[in-house]
Amino acid sequence: MTVRWGLIGASTIARQFMIGAVRAEGGEVAAVMSSSADRAASYAKENGIPAAFSTLDAILGADIDAVYISTTNELHLEQSLAAAKAGKHVLCEKPLALTSADARKIVAACKAAGVVMGTNHHLRNAGAHRAMREAIASGRIGKPIAARVFHSVYLPENLQGWRISKPEAGGGVVLDITVHDADTLRFVLGSDPVEVSAFTQSAGMAAGGLEDGAMCIWRFRSGVIAQSHEGFTTRFAGTGFEVHGSEGSLFGRDVMTQKPVGSVTLRTASGEEELTFDRGDLYARSLGLFHKAIDGEGAPSATGEDGVWSLASAEAALQSARTGRAVAVDPKLGEIA
Ligand code: NDP
Repeated sequence: MTVRWGLIGASTIARQFMIGAVRAEGGEVAAVMSSSADRAASYAKENGIPAAFSTLDAILGADIDAVYISTTNELHLEQSLAAAKAGKHVLCEKPLALTSADARKIVAACKAAGVVMGTNHHLRNAGAHRAMREAIASGRIGKPIAARVFHSVYLPENLQGWRISKPEAGGGVVLDITVHDADTLRFVLGSDPVEVSAFTQSAGMAAGGLEDGAMCIWRFRSGVIAQSHEGFTTRFAGTGFEVHGSEGSLFGRDVMTQKPVGSVTLRTASGEEELTFDRGDLYARSLGLFHKAIDGEGAPSATGEDGVWSLASAEAALQSARTGRAVAVDPKLGEIA
């Protein structure tokens, strides 16, 4: 069956990555919705999408099987709940909502409706991160002890809008990037965070009280401690992901990105080894697994519950930055009916 997708949000991420990913995985981009009828029409034309709508009811009433939600963050809750109610499968962008309590509502609604729900955490689909996860799980670094995540970038000018000016739209680097780091740490380490301590800053780009830089220290259930650095304002920092264990260290370089690039080096007593890994498109893999889940096979690469975890982690980081104390991370998954 060809999955017919409706795009909720005439966004940059859909245009740059997700439309191509849907098509690469045999899906059809059947419709797009924007809050502006003109934008919907021009976006549809530019991207070869047959139908354009300017209301949620209209796109949910169209002949589509699934929605990909990539509007600004404050809209994800209402749009996901409506899509689930209309019986559409839901692939939603991170953060799933502005609070983890709202994210749990989305997951519960999708469960009740019997539709597949996924969170678009692309980094789990990167060959580099999967190679690191496998190396750790197969004991190649011995007992994991510590991790370091370098994910401070320069926000491209075309994206310097709501992310740095609108708290009400869920702006700020923590909801934008820390959610990804929390998810990737959980995925690579195979363990959940239990507490976080964070400092945030406004280093000159963000306004309205929003943060454009964050440093977090995490403690995981396994005993691993980790540090992560997220930012919008550093042009030359580069990205990386390291995990250090009793018998070896993994160095991922240039791997906190949307493209299947970068390198992973394993250093042990025997020397250094470059790990080889799958260089496939991250977003296409996410789509492929989502399509399989619709067919009843497996689960999306990041589920709704994973999205609750990452948002609960980011929420705890923000609370820590506000209060100056370490904060427990608790996704309260048991509250999902
Ligand atoms: P954009 O700013 O490109 O799009 C968000 C919304 O802004 C759109 O839905 C659109 O509203 C409106 N908009 C976009 N361009 C214009 C314009 N030129 N004029 C007027 N309005 C415009 O956001 P992103 O694509 O960067 O992010 C969207 C979502 O995706 C966020 O939730 C973000 O966190 C997530 N994201 C995830 C990534 C990942 O790798 N997983 C990467 C990047 C973003 P309307 O639809 O009403 O027209």
